[in-house]
Amino acid sequence: MINYEQIAKSYQAGVNAVSEFTLSIAEGELLAIIGPSGCGKTTVLKMLNRLVEPTSGRILLNGEDIRTLDPIALRRNMGYVIQQVGLFPHMNILENITVVPDILGWPLEKQRIRAYELLELIDMNPSEFARRYPYQLSGGQQQRIGVLRALAADPAVILMDEPFGAVDPLTRTKLQQELKTLQTQLHKTILLVTHDIDEAFRLADRVLLMQGGRIVQLGRAAELLDHPATPFVREYVGGHRMQACL
Ligand code: ADP
Ligand code: MG
Repeated sequence: MINYEQIAKSYQAGVNAVSEFTLSIAEGELLAIIGPSGCGKTTVLKMLNRLVEPTSGRILLNGEDIRTLDPIALRRNMGYVIQQVGLFPHMNILENITVVPDILGWPLEKQRIRAYELLELIDMNPSEFARRYPYQLSGGQQQRIGVLRALAADPAVILMDEPFGAVDPLTRTKLQQELKTLQTQLHKTILLVTHDIDEAFRLADRVLLMQGGRIVQLGRAAELLDHPATPFVREYVGGHRMQACL
């Protein structure tokens, strides 16, 4: 469904943020991208919704080169969840969830039904929450609304960049379980960037580990653990495992 073909990106001449990046993602797959800060994870994500343009190579979405697609339309068809939730403070929860459907011109009643359906999906009572404002929600609840907003127009692809990075560990675990449940029901294609290896291992079908803008290893969690491709993989994955155990 998604193909990165020999992608390179350099923000400054001579320095590659991403190099020789080739990757295929299947429809309905949840792929986690992990790696040290600055290794190119966010760049890989942003190239898919054209917030960043590659320096070379091409990206196909359902066989179509995304450069031939209108970037605005492309972004509306791709959910995007980031750490700094970015709910609009002057809009209530219902309006925040339906930002994209509203832009797409859905009738108001259809928007309301969709927002209620999504709130119910994560056990937030719509009659209680729909008319609240973001400041009347906890951090974890706001982050949930960020996820619902990404789902609102029912995009096939969802990009998540450290979506749960800013919430406390307990809430984080809850949100992870919720995402897993949502994924079982909705079968979205999800690219999840995280620095939390346990999150990646718990949620993803496959895990991609990057280092210095390159793919070091791609596989199931167990493969990275049992058959690390390089000493770096062993250290990176193993070290965090050790931490988790401690
Ligand atoms: P990650 O998300 O893994 O932390 P990024 O994709 O954000 O990594 O960044 C990869 C590299 O590209 C880093 O060295 C970063 O400093 C650089 N970089 C990212 N965005 C820009 C930009 N807009 N201009 C210049 N350099 C950038
Ligand atoms: Mg990043």
